[in-house]
Amino acid sequence: TTVEQLAEWDKQYFLHPTTSPKAHVEQGPKLIFSDGDGIYVNDVNGNEYIDGISMLWNVNLGHGQQELAEAAKEQMAKLAFSSSFVSYSNEPAIRLAEKLASLAPGDLNAVFYTSGGSESNDTAFKLARFYWRMKGKPEKTKIIALERSYHGVTIAAQTATNVPAFHQFSGSKIPGIFHARPHRVDCERGEAHEHGCGCIRDLIEREGADTIAAVILEPVQGSGGVYIPPDGYLEAVRQLCDEHNILMIADEVICGFGRTGKMFGVENWGVVPDLMTIAKGITSGYAQLGGVLIRQHIRDALVQYEDVLAHGFTYSGHPTACAVGLKNIEILERDNLIDHVRKMEQELKKGFRYLEDRHSIVTKTRAIGLLAGFELYADRDSETPFDPSVKAGLTFVEECFKRKLILRALRANEGYNIIAVSPPLTISEEEMEEMIHIMDDALQAFKKNL
Ligand code: PLP
Repeated sequence: TTVEQLAEWDKQYFLHPTTSPKAHVEQGPKLIFSDGDGIYVNDVNGNEYIDGISMLWNVNLGHGQQELAEAAKEQMAKLAFSSSFVSYSNEPAIRLAEKLASLAPGDLNAVFYTSGGSESNDTAFKLARFYWRMKGKPEKTKIIALERSYHGVTIAAQTATNVPAFHQFSGSKIPGIFHARPHRVDCERGEAHEHGCGCIRDLIEREGADTIAAVILEPVQGSGGVYIPPDGYLEAVRQLCDEHNILMIADEVICGFGRTGKMFGVENWGVVPDLMTIAKGITSGYAQLGGVLIRQHIRDALVQYEDVLAHGFTYSGHPTACAVGLKNIEILERDNLIDHVRKMEQELKKGFRYLEDRHSIVTKTRAIGLLAGFELYADRDSETPFDPSVKAGLTFVEECFKRKLILRALRANEGYNIIAVSPPLTISEEEMEEMIHIMDDALQAFKKNL
């Protein structure tokens, strides 16, 4: 089969996620990936690219990791799949559950497996509601999420998501999910806040704590723009949830497994949520796996239920996916990758300072571990954005792409020019320099073409 044939079939038969269908059908696939090694990926034409965003913030151990491939192969050859329904079990799922319980902060001691992040968040909402039913409070059903959040695309997770394009697409929403202003528990007026200000406290008072099951948030907001919360914020949300008898759900789908320089994002602030959703980095993308970790008191309440817990996916506790997850965690620990991430964070911040010094359009640089980004402004001192016609974020990312670096512009169609930078956790100092050098060149070219 020729590359042209593949591209034709792609246009004809493959409806792509989060892609303009019209543009895709006109232009065909941007790249057809074939293989990779570490931070590098190749396409079918033999071009090599740096993967500056770990694909979708998930290829944490980098591409072509042979030990992960071997772990999958070994388990597949033995028993690729077995059911976890009606008390059937398998060794990798059991061992991974035990490992997660020992790794997760506090007493997050039990896991419900899924195949990805959206499923995990829907599962967390259902478990939270189920928990309150078990506690004799079936009216506690509402969910509070944050503005700018991204929690996935199944209908409940997507309702919690607050990136407008995902709501506009099909108009599908469920009732009972509300959005609070991010990164302040109280508004400027503290507890004397006004009704309607939109802070979490305001929403709790408006809806009534007796009707609210949970608050969900990403420790660091990812797709919504890479927003790191101020110190004290997660602690304040934890306290507010405790005061009002509301469960706290941390969506660690991006943050988990080393991305922020800790095993889990919440550990940066010493907070233990009641439920924690995980996916992506748990297998570095080598298999489809997610889960919801729950605290002991919730687990203890749920196990009182005698009837069937009527929720679960065919692939909950998938043996091959769990074997890959176990190997992934083993490598993270064995190679001290989390320490490495913290070192590389410093290198990346140095690189960002260099770019800021050389390009006055670069501003609001931020990084926690290797979850990082910056913004492009026409004039950073007066915070004047680029004219939307410039499509600054997309144009800059395209200049990087021409120079064989894959990055991503976030919320570009909302007029924000936020650039996400999140290479595999295994990146070396030299590779980081290479990446910064390409960005420097791309910024140069971008400015020249203005
Ligand atoms: N939660 C967060 C924070 C995410 O970034 C994502 C995906 O990007 C999801 C949930 C959804 O995960 P998935 O795409 O595996 O369903």
